Amino acid sequence: MSRRLVSKFMLAVVTIALVIVIATAALHLHLSRVATEALIEQSLQQYPEAERAAGRARLDATQQNMRRDALYLTLLAGLGLLVLALGIGALAMRGITRPLSELAGEARQLGDGDYAPPADTGRRDELGKLGHAFRQLRERLRETTISRDYLDQLLAGLNEALIVVDDDDRIVRTNPAACRLLCRTADTMQGMTLAELLPEDRRDSLAGHDDQRARESVFVRGDDTQVPVSLTCSRVTHPETDFSGRIISARDISERKRAEQRIRYLARIDSLTKVPNRMQFQHLLQRALARARKRGEYLALLYIDVDRFKDVNDTFGHLAGDVSLETFCQRVCEVLPDTAIVGRLAGDEFAVCLRDFRTLDAMMATLDTVIPDILRSVGRSMRVQGHELYLTASMGVARYPLDGGDVIDLIRNADAALYHAKKVGGNCHAFYTPDMNAEAVERLMLKSKLRRAFERNELTLRYQPKYGTHDGRVMGAEALVRWEMPERGMVLPADFVPLAEETNLILDLGEWVLDQVCADYRHWQRSIASPGRVSVNLSLKQLRQQNFLERVKDIFTRHQVSPTCLELEITETTLMEDAERTIRMLEALYRMGLHLAIDDFGTGYSSLSAMQHFPISTLKIDRSFIRDLPADRNNATIVATVIQMAHNLEMEVVAEGVETEAQLAFLREHDCDYVQGMLFGEPFSADDYADLLLRQIEGTDRHRTLFA
Ligand code: C2E
Ligand code: MG
Ligand code: MG
Repeated sequence: MSRRLVSKFMLAVVTIALVIVIATAALHLHLSRVATEALIEQSLQQYPEAERAAGRARLDATQQNMRRDALYLTLLAGLGLLVLALGIGALAMRGITRPLSELAGEARQLGDGDYAPPADTGRRDELGKLGHAFRQLRERLRETTISRDYLDQLLAGLNEALIVVDDDDRIVRTNPAACRLLCRTADTMQGMTLAELLPEDRRDSLAGHDDQRARESVFVRGDDTQVPVSLTCSRVTHPETDFSGRIISARDISERKRAEQRIRYLARIDSLTKVPNRMQFQHLLQRALARARKRGEYLALLYIDVDRFKDVNDTFGHLAGDVSLETFCQRVCEVLPDTAIVGRLAGDEFAVCLRDFRTLDAMMATLDTVIPDILRSVGRSMRVQGHELYLTASMGVARYPLDGGDVIDLIRNADAALYHAKKVGGNCHAFYTPDMNAEAVERLMLKSKLRRAFERNELTLRYQPKYGTHDGRVMGAEALVRWEMPERGMVLPADFVPLAEETNLILDLGEWVLDQVCADYRHWQRSIASPGRVSVNLSLKQLRQQNFLERVKDIFTRHQVSPTCLELEITETTLMEDAERTIRMLEALYRMGLHLAIDDFGTGYSSLSAMQHFPISTLKIDRSFIRDLPADRNNATIVATVIQMAHNLEMEVVAEGVETEAQLAFLREHDCDYVQGMLFGEPFSADDYADLLLRQIEGTDRHRTLFA
């Protein structure tokens, strides 16, 4: 194109030059011929006509020759000029076409993405300027391309998925992370609307948002699965390209969602039994109540507690405790209707909500079958880590709307009923009655009053004598604590010792009992040479007390009472808890001269052979085994065997809770060493006990007839 332009230009120059040369030569020839002709005519005037004619003829011939010569000359000159012009033109053309083709080469190089700069030609003319402008253009192009590539690399390297949409929400660009997140290619997404990436029910959820606020949403992937994302939407406008739209940056939060779900599950479900925990159960109960209220239906709340679960834990360890709770819960669930809601409220406390009853009768009919089913189901023996366990449960029942209108009332009242069931011995259920609540309130009040009572010396001791079965002699007594409440009268330890244990007051209380027993003993010794051996009940917490031994020694020294006069009663479960430590402790007490007895034997899980390891000299059979003697053959066998085995281990046996002469007869027959119980009256005050001992010395005691 440029070469043709130059050729045309050169042709024009040459033509003009030729025309000028020929015109100049022709003009010059014409003027010189006119001048010559004028000169010759003037000279010929002096010659005669004939000579003038001959001269003119010669002149014409000469002129003709000259014209021909001039023509040749002119043609020659024109030809020379033409050659010259062509030479100059060719040179000029080369000077233009070479830089132009160089520029064309550079343009091609640029088009191929090669931005290497060529050497500056140093030209200062128009072509030089053109080359310079071209270099500047290339430089800018290079910078733009580099920054665009850089941006592409950045976008590709981002873990955040980026989706750019225009004002119609059509996707105009995505990065590789977006393709990975959505399992779609960039091409398939191009032109799709943002709404098409969302599930049908949330199609409009992102429309118009551009506030950069983090939101959670769900994207639909190419394979139709869904992925939860956290995303932000920001507005982008680019005036130069006239683009306006939004950029959506999204992150896969499946992992977090899973963790959240797990946390939510853990926060709602008890990890051991896999049933709802307290919070979740209350929530479900709340919902069930709202439904019942709306439909005018009935529901029942069962509060279940494993009887003496602490013993399982203490005897077999917490792992076994856990396993047994798991089994317990499974067994409760097994017998429940499908609509029942089960929850674990705390350690060994469970709750069941039975619901959807149209009538009270329907609810009562279900309760009549479900309650015994639960008790039977949990009562089956279970094997836990090689041990055979028998669990029983107590249950409190509160019914909506009869016993409470909301969750709080229902739970409180079911709990009060449960407490009642426990109090009558466990392994049974109780329906809530309004007076139970008063009991529960009182229990709470007791707790706060107990310490004050202790400080105000409202506690006293009673002594329950132990009689030798051989001749009915009083061999000693058991000290039993009582709380004499001014406004209520006598409170039994079953009502406040557990409260004292909960509050650690048991440490002070236990120490006070020991101190009081020593004081009484010292007092008795003034009138009676041998007041017998007095036993004191010891709580596990006392045995655990850091300086328990020193404290005990201190009391004996202070009252100047020999430790051999006293016996400490420790329950089976206390004994088994941390057995090694307990053995060391008991041995130290034994070395001090104290006698040690095991209390309530038979209610825990220890075996007699396990007792051998402890320095125990007395075994007290729990009164639950004595109660139905001798009629209950089972218990009769147990008691007879225990007495025999204890004797084999060189222990003395005391039977607790002897109430009837038949029981006494049985025990005497089977060689039980001592008895204690209501058969011989209520426990004595310290003074009455001293009187009893004095009467015995005098031989005026009345109980002896029972042993005749
Ligand atoms: P325990 O050591 O087994 O005491 C025997 C319980 O049986 C006493 O109940 C006693 O009054 C009762 N009992 C005795 N004979 C009969 C009877 O023939 N029939 C009936 N139904 N009951 C009889 P109490 O005094 O209510 O004491 C209950 C428990 O409280 C005691 O059981 C003991 O474990 C605990 N306890 C009593 N005093 C103390 C104390 O000073 N410290 C500690 N840590 N616990 C104590
Ligand atoms: Mg006792
Ligand atoms: Mg006992």
